[in-house]
Amino acid sequence: MDFSLSDEERAIRETARTFIRKEVMPLEDDVLRRERAHQPGITREELRDLQQKARAFGFWGLSTPEEYGGMNLPAVMQSLIWTEVGRTVVPFRFGGEADNILYLANEEQKREYLIPTIEGERVSCFAITEPGAGSDAANIKMSAKQDGDDWVLNGEKTFITNGNEADFAIVVAVTDREKGTRGGGTTAFLVDRDMGWKSDFIQTMGEGGPAQLTFENVRVPSRNILGEIGEGFGLGMQWIGRGRYIIPSVAIGIAERALQMAIDYANVRETFGKPIGANQAIQWMIADSETELEAARWLVLRAAWSVDQGLEPRHTSSMCKLFGASAVNRIIDRVLQIHGGMGYTRELPIERWYRQVRLFRIFEGTDEMLRLIIARDLLRGYTKIGGHLA
Ligand SMILES: Cc1cc2nc3c(=O)[nH]c(=O)nc-3n(C[C@H](O)[C@H](O)[C@H](O)COP(=O)(O)OP(=O)(O)OC[C@H]3O[C@@H](n4cnc5c(N)ncnc54)[C@H](O)[C@@H]3O)c2cc1C
Repeated sequence: MDFSLSDEERAIRETARTFIRKEVMPLEDDVLRRERAHQPGITREELRDLQQKARAFGFWGLSTPEEYGGMNLPAVMQSLIWTEVGRTVVPFRFGGEADNILYLANEEQKREYLIPTIEGERVSCFAITEPGAGSDAANIKMSAKQDGDDWVLNGEKTFITNGNEADFAIVVAVTDREKGTRGGGTTAFLVDRDMGWKSDFIQTMGEGGPAQLTFENVRVPSRNILGEIGEGFGLGMQWIGRGRYIIPSVAIGIAERALQMAIDYANVRETFGKPIGANQAIQWMIADSETELEAARWLVLRAAWSVDQGLEPRHTSSMCKLFGASAVNRIIDRVLQIHGGMGYTRELPIERWYRQVRLFRIFEGTDEMLRLIIARDLLRGYTKIGGHLA
């Protein structure tokens, strides 16, 4: 058994690390200052400029096929790079990416939606969640009724990431109530903002914020159906499933940086005439954090490896997101505790991480839904305890 990274993996990770350290991290003070003033940490233009710089560095479209100008990296490599991205508090991500399900578009749709999204000229959002349907996404109510060669959409979507910035939305709506969501009754539509949907910012405990989308008699031409009529729910699950190992990959980067801050602080902060790190109470927090971080790392890498091996990644991805998301919450809580009052201030990024990582346990599958998937896989015999090593 070999737990080491290949030379290529090390080299690419090192280049990503250097880019983040030299080009992105210097913006951190500005980001924190702007956010304290309730402004976006970086503007869309600044993000695009950074992404173009990264492109010159060789990073463009981590998951994007080469025929679209991307790197088409294996999942393990993508995971390692997302961990580097997680180290910075700047809301940065590498450019050249598009929603995985946009690749299922027809040629005309690819020209209009996929390619401009990859190039960063258009911003997409993906909308399945509704006020009455989150974990129970099969319960969506937004209706799409055919009228001539158009479909008329009515209803609401909520908590939509990028919903305020997007100029088009990938929307899952009910096209045949009789068939039901799982029986082919839903369809995905590509809906431009100028077709008439409205967005409202939702204030959350995190920075930025998702949006509520309102559709009132929004007419969408039939040519804007993504995939086939009846495939909407399946496409939605494909979209959600893709990110499962990426969220905990980011969590590892956050936890690594935060834990190092706690170690450095524990070595210099003195109380009662000695560094706080000399106390067992502090040592245990550090030891537990390192142990959980290491466990999360291997769950994540194993899930990404499963993707690269062409194995069904549902079970491993669910476990790594469940464990990684909750571990980073515990780790940031301890890091904050080790910093005492300073940890609670907005001078350091710790309280920001504390708010940010809470979301990891909610979106793209709550802890409870992931447990349900993991248990169901075992109870129904879809997987064996121990997976491919069983
Ligand atoms: C910041 C943010 C960004 C988001 N981005 C997007 C996006 O881009 N696109 C999109 O479509 N959606 C998005 N979402 C929605 C997100 O996926 C949902 O919030 C999530 O699926 C949970 O749904 P809910 O909020 O309706 O909670 P509910 O489904 O109402 O669940 C409430 C609680 O009950 C638990 N629960 C529910 N059912 C069960 C059960 N059977 N057994 C045990 N416990 C259960 C849940 O785990 C949760 O703890 C986003 C959400 C947030 C907060």
